[in-house]
Amino acid sequence: MVIKPKIRGFICTNAHPNGCAALVEQQINYVTKQSYSEGPKNVLVLGCSTGYGLASRIVSAFGYGANTLGVCFEKPPTERKTATAGWYNTAAFHNAAKAKGLQAHSINGDAFSDEIKAEVIEYAKANMGKIDLVIYSLASPRRTDPVTGEVYKSTLKPVGDTYVTKTYDTDKDLVHNVELTPASDEEIANTIKVMGGEDWERWLSAMSDAGILAEGCKTTAYTYIGKELTWPIYGQATIGKAKEDLDRAAAAIIDDHKALSIQANVSSLKALVTQASSAIPVMPLYISLIYKIMKDEGTHEGCIEQISGLFNDCLYGDAPTLDEFNRYRMDGKETNDQTQAKVKAVWERVSQENFHELSDYAGYHQDFLNLFGFGVEGVDYEEDVDPLKAW
Ligand code: NAD
Repeated sequence: MVIKPKIRGFICTNAHPNGCAALVEQQINYVTKQSYSEGPKNVLVLGCSTGYGLASRIVSAFGYGANTLGVCFEKPPTERKTATAGWYNTAAFHNAAKAKGLQAHSINGDAFSDEIKAEVIEYAKANMGKIDLVIYSLASPRRTDPVTGEVYKSTLKPVGDTYVTKTYDTDKDLVHNVELTPASDEEIANTIKVMGGEDWERWLSAMSDAGILAEGCKTTAYTYIGKELTWPIYGQATIGKAKEDLDRAAAAIIDDHKALSIQANVSSLKALVTQASSAIPVMPLYISLIYKIMKDEGTHEGCIEQISGLFNDCLYGDAPTLDEFNRYRMDGKETNDQTQAKVKAVWERVSQENFHELSDYAGYHQDFLNLFGFGVEGVDYEEDVDPLKAW
């Protein structure tokens, strides 16, 4: 099959196995060039197949030589339809791990469910030492509560007032104003149910009850805090309320498992193009503008640089910087006042006429294509490739 991108709005409905494999290899190459101190030995990555979770798995395995167990929710390929990108990323990760003699196992299923928790525990008990790092990197629009069976959906809406702002429609190549209506109390509560800390706590409790957590085990969940420009749609919006709940959950995890001395921290990362962020209104415009500014400043980083830094400086660093809410901060190069002043100034000026001149939309679009294994240098997109790839 010759595979060309099929873009529908903010998503691409197919993926290229060779492109995904090449990008996983690039991340592995980056990691093997860094140096890491003593770190984790047995790692569970929830949301291991794309974005920040995939980078966390690559750093754990290829930076620290850890055994990794990953959970993701991806569509396998058929004869006529490609798999999702995360499936191909996972296949490529497994090949590279095997070649290096690293233990890796992945489970494809709903991480919110009790069945997948039981499957993870069973595998870890039989095949791994006690887990000493749990990465929580799920990004999902819905969650089925395993206790009640009720399905909750998250929304991306402001909280409080209607918010009018600029946005960029990637489909129509159009900068325009959008009016975002505020969420109801129910929508806020539902978003917290999906993207808040309840499931993170349930994972740690299930693993602790099963006796598979190492003493001093570390765990972190990822957040985006951002600044004034993104607060109305992120930090102080429905998703921000869910992310605030992660702070509550981190404290609860520490408190509930005192005998194990678990270190639970939320980690704040920078805004990047991932499947999760491209779905959020305003973010494509903000990211296109901040990419240009940070690339000019020489401070731009991708998932792998952010996560490599998080492990080295924070999770396994000698003197990690924590903010007043006990969070690791890896977002300083984006959220510092100087950089934010520049993006605010450009935000004021940006219009349909000057968007391509003021932004790095080319960089945004390149990263977007890369999410699905397209636009990768050295990959032959005219080649007839077999979409069937196993893990
Ligand atoms: P992503 O979409 O690239 O990755 C999401 C992962 O979750 C994938 O591996 C997917 O398979 C998995 N997943 C989704 N639903 C699942 C389910 N029900 N069961 C099992 N696995 C499931 O997203 P990302 O941008 O890497 O986001 C990861 C975390 O990082 C999120 O919490 C996000 O809020 C946070 N974050 C993202 C950004 C950003 O700009 N992208 C910035 C800071 C923090």
